[in-house]
Amino acid sequence: MSWQTELAPELQTKIQAVDAQIAPRLTALDDQIINNQAKVLQAFQDQSISETHLNGTTGYGNDDQGRDKLEAVYSQVFGTEDALVRPQLVSGTHAIGTALLGMLRPGDDLLYLTGEPYDTLQEVIGIAGNGIGSLKEYQIGFDYVPLLADGSVDFELAKTMITAKTKVIAIQRSRGYAVRDSFTVAKIAEMVRFIKTVNPDSIIFVDNAYGEFSEVIEPTDVGVDVMAGSLIKNAGGGIAQTGGYIVGTQRLIEMIGYRLTVPGVGASEGATQGNLQLMFEGFFLAPSVTGNAIKGAIYEAALLEKMGLSVSPKWDAPRTDLIQTVNFGNPDDMVKFAGCVQAQSPIDSFVTPIPSDFAGYEDQIVMAAGTFIQGASIEFSADGPIRAPYTLYLQGGLTYAHIKLAISRAVQTTYYA
Ligand SMILES: *Cc1c(COP(=O)(O)O)cnc(C)c1O
Repeated sequence: MSWQTELAPELQTKIQAVDAQIAPRLTALDDQIINNQAKVLQAFQDQSISETHLNGTTGYGNDDQGRDKLEAVYSQVFGTEDALVRPQLVSGTHAIGTALLGMLRPGDDLLYLTGEPYDTLQEVIGIAGNGIGSLKEYQIGFDYVPLLADGSVDFELAKTMITAKTKVIAIQRSRGYAVRDSFTVAKIAEMVRFIKTVNPDSIIFVDNAYGEFSEVIEPTDVGVDVMAGSLIKNAGGGIAQTGGYIVGTQRLIEMIGYRLTVPGVGASEGATQGNLQLMFEGFFLAPSVTGNAIKGAIYEAALLEKMGLSVSPKWDAPRTDLIQTVNFGNPDDMVKFAGCVQAQSPIDSFVTPIPSDFAGYEDQIVMAAGTFIQGASIEFSADGPIRAPYTLYLQGGLTYAHIKLAISRAVQTTYYA
């Protein structure tokens, strides 16, 4: 018996229509997955990864050959000179914050080109939270270029804000909790060309959260100097249990390494313990897992739009990350739908998500994440700050089958029960 027979007949008809509508897009994604898989496989082969590299170290972690090899694989895939891929990077925010704190010095300025930074980065910068240890406390200046009304970069204004003191110019690829489109690698390339004409000495940094393998090229392929992200998002493939990565030029990665541990030691220490096998395997699976999560997002967009909801991106729009937003217009429907997502999770399906305060976030957040790895948003999850226009951010999913099943049932519960 088909899984669909439990659904309302009208919903079954809608699902059939959606299946036909999105089929060409899913086929195109299969091609993208193979291209990215080829790139990752090539790096494993060129770096001669062997079974011994899957074993970690303890203590100081000196001469951790597996860690060095993993970092070489990341460097090759992202086209950079060097990389830090570490379980000691506790989150994406930590990876990004370590990169910024490692590159900036008192008297330098940081400029965000893509509007207000992601919530947790605002505390790193010192424009939210208590300011302790923030860039601001270290006399590092900060400003951002507000986006234009259509969500694009205001290059005219940016030209007036970039000065000789602007040491780092940051680009946030994914939308975070902002209401705007994510920036494709082509758009980032345009920003890089602009920055090079205005101040070629500025370091160009990209917050690549949710971006890895969602296109066939990455920001570092178009002139970005340093890029960072989380291993419990795309790059960990749903397998890595913790960690973050930072890739970039050798000089900058050296500076960041000294911030990650301490001056003198830098990247040479850091035991990987039992993490290497999972980090290697997760990175190998990442093109496929990310591609399937994007297929799921396309299904969500098409079906929820058919249900009369406003979604972004639309099902046929270009994608550069995992994020699918759905606008509920009021907190009740938003929280209810998040509850449906939780109820369709493999872990903690019996739990009801309740909006609450989270460290690093200014508004209350509702978070549905019935995941194998705590808070892993490469796994099927939904979250969003409880603030107008009450937008739920859906992302991830380890398999297309799970996302399709979960979303179809959530629609059934919300609109047909
Ligand atoms: C998730 C995210 C981060 C930070 O990641 P955490 O691992 O949650 O700390 C940074 N920037 C953006 C745009 C994100 O989506």
